[in-house]
Amino acid sequence: MTTIQDNYLTLADGQKMPQQGFGVYKLTDSATFTQTIQDAYEDGYRLFDTAQMYGNEADLGKALKSLSVDRDDYFITTKVAESNQGYQKAIDSVKESLQKLQLDYVNLLLVHWPINGPFFETWRAFEEMKKEGLTKSIGVSNYGMVHLQYLATQASEMPVVDQLECHPWLSEKPMIKFNNDHHIVTQAWAPLGRGRIFEEPILQEIANKHVKSAAQIILRWHLQNGISFIPKSAHAQRIKENAAIYDFALTPEEMAQIDSINKNLRISQEPELVYEFNQQYPH
Ligand code: NAD
Repeated sequence: MTTIQDNYLTLADGQKMPQQGFGVYKLTDSATFTQTIQDAYEDGYRLFDTAQMYGNEADLGKALKSLSVDRDDYFITTKVAESNQGYQKAIDSVKESLQKLQLDYVNLLLVHWPINGPFFETWRAFEEMKKEGLTKSIGVSNYGMVHLQYLATQASEMPVVDQLECHPWLSEKPMIKFNNDHHIVTQAWAPLGRGRIFEEPILQEIANKHVKSAAQIILRWHLQNGISFIPKSAHAQRIKENAAIYDFALTPEEMAQIDSINKNLRISQEPELVYEFNQQYPH
């Protein structure tokens, strides 16, 4: 049986990435951070997703050291913040991120949000950083079709991952298809809808049938949709629960039932507005 630990996707650049990862947004308690990462690693998580904006790259660096495992045994993603976009700023900021993470390279470097000002310069820096070995793969986050098509007008190489808000209330089917058609792996952030959608009767009903939790049903839906996903939890029991989704399967009917609760409802920012404002906006 495939488990979280040996479940990898192959990116268009040939690198392998775990399909299921662990998000560390809002894990800001330095005292418990290392224990949380150790719990996740023991449960089989190998991908850890941070960002310059989360302010916890140094905590993650310390936690990774404490694992005492080979560098090849984990996959690290970080993201360049809007305020660090631009050619030289992006490069300088990633060197600082690597210092905080105590790493020579990250596995995946993402542009956190599309912004119109330094749109192309930032990507040129990403292509350069990949050549220099600061990252194995380059990708984007919160890019819609228009952003990707615009990027393609000047890019030498295209992103291999697009990390998007995606959960049963925002299923992003057209965007996932577009990304698939362009050899870009979609990675769901807020895959659990930040915990706000567990009460959906359809999820409860399917969960009862499989004797699983609503969280496990949602994560299994992402898994069977073939995309990558990075749930977050600070609790040992939930971290374990979220990894225990490889011993059952949803039927095509159940997958369709979950698809049917899509409301196109965004919990967070609208990428188009971030692009226009050149920054994340109060919401
Ligand atoms: P999520 O959908 O992963 O939800 C996390 C919340 O769900 C937890 O805080 C907890 O309240 C609840 N939860 C988790 N497991 C549970 C369980 N088994 N039972 C009950 N409740 C449970 O939301 P998220 O943290 O926003 O997203 C995941 C990761 O995505 C982040 O940690 C971060 O790494 C990344 N992210 C990226 C962006 C971006 O712009 N690229 C934006 C936000 C988050």
